[in-house]
Amino acid sequence: MIDKELNFTIYDPKNFSKDGPAGCNKCAGIISELLVQTLAVEGINLPDSVVWKGINSYQLHTTKGSVSIATPSFENTIAAVYRGGGPKGIIGEHKESFDDFLLGQAVKEGAAHISVKIEGIEYKNGKPVLFSQGGEIEQADLVVGAVGVNSAKMGIFLDMGFGYEEPRTVKAAIAELSFDEEIITEHFGNSVHLFLLPIKSLKFAAMIPKETYVTLCILGHDLNANSVKDFLDYPVVREVLPKSLSYKFRCRCLPKMNVKAPKIPYADRVVMCGDAGSTRLFKDGLGAAYIMGKAAANTAVLHGVSKQDFQEHYYPVYKNIIVDNQFGSYLYFLADLYKNYGLLTRWMLQIVQEEQSDPEDPKRLSSVLWNMFTGNERFKNIFATAVSLPMRFDLWKAFAKTLVRRR
Ligand SMILES: Cc1cc2nc3c(=O)[nH]c(=O)nc-3n(C[C@H](O)[C@H](O)[C@H](O)COP(=O)(O)OP(=O)(O)OC[C@H]3O[C@@H](n4cnc5c(N)ncnc54)[C@H](O)[C@@H]3O)c2cc1C
Repeated sequence: MIDKELNFTIYDPKNFSKDGPAGCNKCAGIISELLVQTLAVEGINLPDSVVWKGINSYQLHTTKGSVSIATPSFENTIAAVYRGGGPKGIIGEHKESFDDFLLGQAVKEGAAHISVKIEGIEYKNGKPVLFSQGGEIEQADLVVGAVGVNSAKMGIFLDMGFGYEEPRTVKAAIAELSFDEEIITEHFGNSVHLFLLPIKSLKFAAMIPKETYVTLCILGHDLNANSVKDFLDYPVVREVLPKSLSYKFRCRCLPKMNVKAPKIPYADRVVMCGDAGSTRLFKDGLGAAYIMGKAAANTAVLHGVSKQDFQEHYYPVYKNIIVDNQFGSYLYFLADLYKNYGLLTRWMLQIVQEEQSDPEDPKRLSSVLWNMFTGNERFKNIFATAVSLPMRFDLWKAFAKTLVRRR
């Protein structure tokens, strides 16, 4: 029992029940298996009204063929959601946005939600004071900066002068393709379609089915307004899309994605969380936001809100994600090699196909790919499996087979 009275106010001007850009937080909307389970442990079970599709497999597409990787748990444990109301015109009575649902949960637990944008923060008598619409609105004991990286108002924390710098970001691309619901069920099923293609600017791309839409998410470097069209024209992608059926574009955007955390994420009575702080590289940003939010809350409630408290109790968790991302960079480097060199692509595909067709196989490479692209496991652990002796043995065995076949 903690003998403290806590009052929370969430300031966010966005109306998440709105469809189109007004309610959207620019994300592919995959809630990892790990986050679905962690939320359930907290007593937050995602209702059917929030989940647009339960995902039970990934279809991996390459220039050398495709393979299906099933969830190791045989359940639809990954949830595909919309952060806002979804593409323009889609929101109906039967569905709810993920962010709206979470905000509702927070309000139910006693938090207040005030729909305003914070336009400035200044210290007065040692406490941060929030400004909006030209006036002072609250003096707080603690300000949590969970403003993401896509807001024009990130500068308010830079202006506070405690050494916070904006995270380094890259531009990603998202588009919503509309199809008939039967087409999506028949053609995309309950699978995320993942593309590892030898395109220089592309890390990977994913198509996520959600009733009458497929969310296309492209991650890489130097993406621009043409990236979506160029990607959709790529032969492997055209093969995957339903033939002779046209799709309609609804929303399209080029959101920023955090790829490097700022060095100083806290000061006295201020802490930065989520994408404005440290997040997982190209993966499970929502899971990382949960971890950092919890670490900040634990620090504030159990220890205090001074810079020293955050240094001792928040920073180790923050740094942990940064270190883990180092392993993530090595894994993405390896994935780049495998997608860019045909022989390696074929080799990877062959191993996964064999693993998936044998129920007794330990499925090492499948689990490396599954965990990497679902964000279900820490990069460090995936890396350990990827370089383990049995994994290397599997790779050499497949390599030898490929050479014999080529002969
Ligand atoms: C293309 C792309 C695809 C992604 N796909 C996934 C995915 O499938 N799964 C996943 O887990 N992660 C994904 N992510 C990452 C994920 O979107 C982020 O990690 C996550 O949204 C971070 O949450 P956040 O609360 O820190 O920031 P955000 O979700 O950006 O939320 C910030 C909130 O702060 C509010 N705000 C901003 N400034 C102010 C202000 N001055 N005053 C008041 N309110 C303010 C905004 O209105 C907004 O609601 C993806 C990211 C990108 C770019």
